[in-house]
Amino acid sequence: MPAVSAGPEIERLIALLARLPGLGPRSARRAALFLIKKRELLMAPLAAALTAAIETIQVCRVCGNIDSQNPCTICTDPQRDPSVILVVADVGDLWALERAHALKARYHVLGGTLSPLDGIGPDDLTIDALIKRAHDPAVREVILALNATVDGQSTAHYITDLLHDTEVKVTRLAHGVPVGGELDYLDEGTLAAAIRSRTPF
Ligand code: ZN
Repeated sequence: MPAVSAGPEIERLIALLARLPGLGPRSARRAALFLIKKRELLMAPLAAALTAAIETIQVCRVCGNIDSQNPCTICTDPQRDPSVILVVADVGDLWALERAHALKARYHVLGGTLSPLDGIGPDDLTIDALIKRAHDPAVREVILALNATVDGQSTAHYITDLLHDTEVKVTRLAHGVPVGGELDYLDEGTLAAAIRSRTPF
């Protein structure tokens, strides 16, 4: 137990900050001190933003995205192509794809990937809801934008099997050479996947 050097309010702030991803106890102390020094400029607006988030943020009942409206902004956006569902494991992946501006599609957030080792089975994810959505005649394609890991790929196979009897085209992200990547630096698995997924020039 480290020696306590500040009042309980500050210790509690540090302890809570230390639970954020990427912040250990040392950087939590630094962040807490920074917040305290910037009490008016940063700490008060942050506290207000957190309160507003607690009061308004909810999980979209259609796609599983998080937003302050339900159904979410993406599900209600008339500019989005309703025939394509982009399936992601987590909201962070949805944000990453949105940042890439690659496709104006709708999403489906699974809430994770199948992982027998961690005890995560199909009932722990929103796979049932996805299969129901995919049966809508307006849906033509389901893109499985899942991690290129064992769990991600076994989840992709599981979903593909469940969509076997539908007219929906099931696709997945290409695996291969990253943009700006040099072949000499790639691992063998990525290089082999890139060769297998080669496309006409
Ligand atoms: Zn939504």
